[in-house]
Amino acid sequence: MTNDAKIPFLDLISTHAELTEELVAAFREALKTAGFIGGPVVEGLEREFAAFSDARFCVGVGSGTDALRFALSAAGVRAGDSVVTVPNTFIATTEAISQVGALPEFVDVEERTSTMDPDRLQTFLEAHCMQGPSSRRLISKRTGRPVTTIVPVHLYGHPADMDPIMELAERYNLIVVEDACQAHGAEYFSARSNRWMKAGSIGQAGAFSFYPGKNLGACGEAGAITTNDEEITRKCRMIRDHGQAKKYYHDLEGYNGRLDAVQAAFLRIKLKHLSKWNEQRRERAQVYGNLLSELGESAILPVAAPWAKAIYHLYVIRVEDRDDLIAKLAADNIGTGIHYPIPLHLQKAYAHLGHKEGDFPVSERLAREIVSLPMYPSLTEEQQHRVCERIRQILSEQAASKGSRPVLVAS
Ligand SMILES: *Cc1c(COP(=O)(O)O)cnc(C)c1O
Repeated sequence: MTNDAKIPFLDLISTHAELTEELVAAFREALKTAGFIGGPVVEGLEREFAAFSDARFCVGVGSGTDALRFALSAAGVRAGDSVVTVPNTFIATTEAISQVGALPEFVDVEERTSTMDPDRLQTFLEAHCMQGPSSRRLISKRTGRPVTTIVPVHLYGHPADMDPIMELAERYNLIVVEDACQAHGAEYFSARSNRWMKAGSIGQAGAFSFYPGKNLGACGEAGAITTNDEEITRKCRMIRDHGQAKKYYHDLEGYNGRLDAVQAAFLRIKLKHLSKWNEQRRERAQVYGNLLSELGESAILPVAAPWAKAIYHLYVIRVEDRDDLIAKLAADNIGTGIHYPIPLHLQKAYAHLGHKEGDFPVSERLAREIVSLPMYPSLTEEQQHRVCERIRQILSEQAASKGSRPVLVAS
């Protein structure tokens, strides 16, 4: 078995092979004009990505982390604020919060979707915050700081449950910035708006990453902010360009966070394929679901909530002995990932926040059990058969060596 061809966790090569001619032509075109930063190509991408995301505006920036940072600032987060997010996300979410001078504050996730649990958010706002001296301002009892903002993360391409989050945000006058870095084109059925809404178009602003491995990836670093708010758009445009609306007239201190025109050109080419690629990922997820369903209780498979059209940036299953499964798949030339092995509240970088094990039990449990399987549009059904057959063998070996089937209980 071990001499079978490698099934990588991620295959970026075959996607680009199909588009090589077009991408090279775009680069040649850029050399002709030497307009490498900003300009009409960036504006074209911004128009097209705004349309794709059902948002009025889009601002192209240097990365998803820039997008989060600039969106938070532009939406009104101030130094000293508390910003509520989840512990099971990539550290960029909380880096952006800290880098605008705010403090990340965590609420745990729903086990089923791995995204922010609206009930826990409500408990946090009602039981762990108090009304500040100025009315309509909540103060975190833990940090003593004003809670101004919520950052839900649409993890793995599955939207967070936005209706109750938006209701709480309205009730408590909070800003909502969506971390949509894994959710280009994911949709949420909003019962209160009675329609499907795209990730990044629901809160005051959404942040997207075009890191190469994302569903829409550049050939380098890139990101974007989506919003329906003209003022947030204007501010993001200034912040990405050293706080200037006009060259060398700086209204505020910003960043060098502009989008390369070459990356924008590549992204425009790839954006035309994104809906098809997302659909292919859904088909891959369906195939995994069928093949793995026979594992019964020894693996928990991802489920899309009824209000979600997920785009399967990652296909993440849960098993009891995750490390053994990963090692045996690797020995068989099958790549996997863990997103993410240590929840943020237990990372060394956040020791100063004073959290301990047990503070966010759902995120902690997920971190111990999750495995991300190979997932990309060009993954073949044959490859998936091999992955699933090996998983079945490994899990039954594990069960046999324990003398019983490992049982995971979904709550
Ligand atoms: C990728 C990612 C980011 C950061 O995006 P970059 O483009 O790498 O800066 C932020 N949040 C989440 C959830 C991500 O997956």
